[in-house]
Amino acid sequence: MKNVRKWVLAGVLAGLFGGSIAVDQVQSRSVQAALVLQPARSVETVVDHSSAGLNVYTEQKGQLVFSGRHLAAGTTWQVFGHTTIQETRYANLGGTQWVEAKYLRPQQPQLKRDRRLIQIHYVPGYGVNLWRLTATGQLVGTGRRLRHGTRWRSLGTAQINGQTFYNLGGNQWIAHQYGWITNLDGQGRIGRPTYLKGVLLVNKLNGIGQRFGGSNPTANAALWKLQQAARAAGHAMPRISGYRSYGYQVKLYRDYVATDGIAAADQYSARPGFSEHQTGLAFDIGTTDLEASYGKTAAGRWLAQNCATYGFIIRFPQGKEGLTGYTYEPWHVRYVGVAAAQQIKAQGLSLEEYLGAESAQN
Ligand SMILES: [Zn+2]
Repeated sequence: MKNVRKWVLAGVLAGLFGGSIAVDQVQSRSVQAALVLQPARSVETVVDHSSAGLNVYTEQKGQLVFSGRHLAAGTTWQVFGHTTIQETRYANLGGTQWVEAKYLRPQQPQLKRDRRLIQIHYVPGYGVNLWRLTATGQLVGTGRRLRHGTRWRSLGTAQINGQTFYNLGGNQWIAHQYGWITNLDGQGRIGRPTYLKGVLLVNKLNGIGQRFGGSNPTANAALWKLQQAARAAGHAMPRISGYRSYGYQVKLYRDYVATDGIAAADQYSARPGFSEHQTGLAFDIGTTDLEASYGKTAAGRWLAQNCATYGFIIRFPQGKEGLTGYTYEPWHVRYVGVAAAQQIKAQGLSLEEYLGAESAQN
């Protein structure tokens, strides 16, 4: 975070844990109780209230005394909590440093406008907290939870206390990692297949809903020919995975999230309704290991070199992660037809580039 200064003081730790240091035990009992810190994190700016700047107080025996320091108006600080002494509220800037809270203003979130439809994803499905932002810059729960799978219109995103949140209109916020962009245009084409240049595009931004898809005879026949050619060239090319239903992808994705967490799972697994496997046009072939090193094996190199002849592309190429949204998968081929496949291979493109589609990196 830019422009945020922190008081880095040994006093922070001493203040928090000093009581447990054996040597000081006896002495510390004779000292008056420390100020009670009500912890809360926010980033706040000093408002212009005098030319001298804002007085900084330090804590001495439970009292606040002027430290001789000032903070200039317009400077920004991390606040760690508050305390109230004789009806005056003070903000803690770390350690034993305090300023009068009424001279600080929490940063207003800067909404980056970007209207999108988002779908709530929260596994295993308890729902996601809907937050509101208080006048003092704190996020507090509204008591509402948004259910897994429900869809909402987001007006944009904002940084609040160092984290990204979607704004769902007015003072309603959800943590950004639980919202999933379902479609780029935000015009309600959720789940409807996206065709560009006659090619079906399925990626993290272009879903196909629950019912679309199924085993595809054209792609199956092309795969059969590719497998025959591979065998003739001396490479076993077993089919590991082909058509997968929406329901099966739900189970897979949930298992991945349970094992690795949402962020990691999203790097290698499609969310339900966003998997090419549901179209019947994609196959995992040649290796059960599903390791990037497959691309360096003789079979993996043969596949990359020859799949276009049968209408397939390596869908998630190395170096195109920022466009496809997925890590390199030398075993995942996608049927796009011979003409498109050969053009994509010849020009070294990702499918997103070939179709002129927006980058699908989340
Ligand atoms: Zn795959």
